[in-house]
Amino acid sequence: MTINEQVIRWSEIRLPHPTRDGQLVRWKVDGPFALRSYYRMEGVDEPVRLDLSRVKSDGTIDTCLHCGGGDLTTRTEAPWAALLLWVVVALGLAPLTYGASVLIAAYPVWFLWSDGRRVQICTECRVEYVDFRHGPRP
Ligand SMILES: [Zn+2]
Repeated sequence: MTINEQVIRWSEIRLPHPTRDGQLVRWKVDGPFALRSYYRMEGVDEPVRLDLSRVKSDGTIDTCLHCGGGDLTTRTEAPWAALLLWVVVALGLAPLTYGASVLIAAYPVWFLWSDGRRVQICTECRVEYVDFRHGPRP
C-alpha cells in the first residue's frame, strides 16, 4: 500500500536532543493516538517517556506529555515567505487589474494559510507537539 503524504496529516513530536545542543529529534506519527509511550534516541541510553494518558479523548493536549508541564504556547507554522510574496504581488498588480489580482490571489493565500500547522510548545522542556488537533484530519 502506498501512502500519499499530501492527504494524510501527520502529527509530529519534536524533542530537543538531551546531549546535542540545538538538535531537534522528530517523530512523525499518524495522529495523536499512534504514539508510543517511550522512544529511543540515538546516543542516549534512557528512553524518552511520554505519558499518553494526558492525550484527551479528542486527540488534543493541554499538558506536556513528556514533563507534565501545563504551560504550552501555541504558534502556527505556515509558509510565511510564500504567503507574503502572493500578497505583495497581488497588491502590486491591483492598480493594473482593477483589484482582480487580489481576488485571484485570495485562493492560494487562503490555501497556504489553512494548510499551516498548529504547533504547541512546552515552555519547560521545549518539546514541540505538531498538529495535535481536534477532530478528524481533513
Ligand atoms: Zn514539557
